[in-house]
Amino acid sequence: MNTREKFIFHKNFKYRHFTSTILAGNLKDKTLRDNFLISQNLNPANLVLVNQVHSSDVKIVEKYNCGNFIDNCDGLITTDKSIILGIFTADCVPLLMTNGIVKTAIHAGWRGIHSGIIENAVGILNNKFSINPKDIEVYVGPHIHSCCYEVSRDFENIFNLKLKNNRLDLSEVVFSKLKKLGIVNIFDMNLCTCCQNNYFFSYRRNKTSDRILSLLA
Ligand SMILES: [Zn+2]
Repeated sequence: MNTREKFIFHKNFKYRHFTSTILAGNLKDKTLRDNFLISQNLNPANLVLVNQVHSSDVKIVEKYNCGNFIDNCDGLITTDKSIILGIFTADCVPLLMTNGIVKTAIHAGWRGIHSGIIENAVGILNNKFSINPKDIEVYVGPHIHSCCYEVSRDFENIFNLKLKNNRLDLSEVVFSKLKKLGIVNIFDMNLCTCCQNNYFFSYRRNKTSDRILSLLA
């Protein structure tokens, strides 16, 4: 990874997307965020964000939602080409999904994953938009990996798995859910926000309120 880059992306996920790095600053700050988008030739007025609450709720957004934060949900879906979907994270999993027509962005922490946000999003894409999961491509952004994610034994019951050295492998939980839903095209950055905290904000490491932004344009 080039340590001077303000954003990263997956070269095989062919849709316009990226995750900002710590060098872009805390993108919850509107001025920083707007300037950053403009520097990438993206119009900040077209961005839709979420007031993330670690829920499993996903909402469909339209043109009139542009420039706003959507309350009480952790996932967004849109069919509007001009809309940019954004998700803030600092250890949780940013998931960007698309079949090239319908766009989805999800904030997936362990609570949201456990309560079914991935199933809810793919369910909407399947039932409401008739999208075959095989046609959905998923970008898995930087998030905390098992190297840094020590958790209590309770998580064995929560996720019905065996912890290795008391560490939770959130990536593995996400991949297995995606695969169970029939999604095969998964593009994983395979980067840990916690041990790579020179590049990303990490809540676990710093208890920071600063966030990186993943977006799908
Ligand atoms: Zn790590």
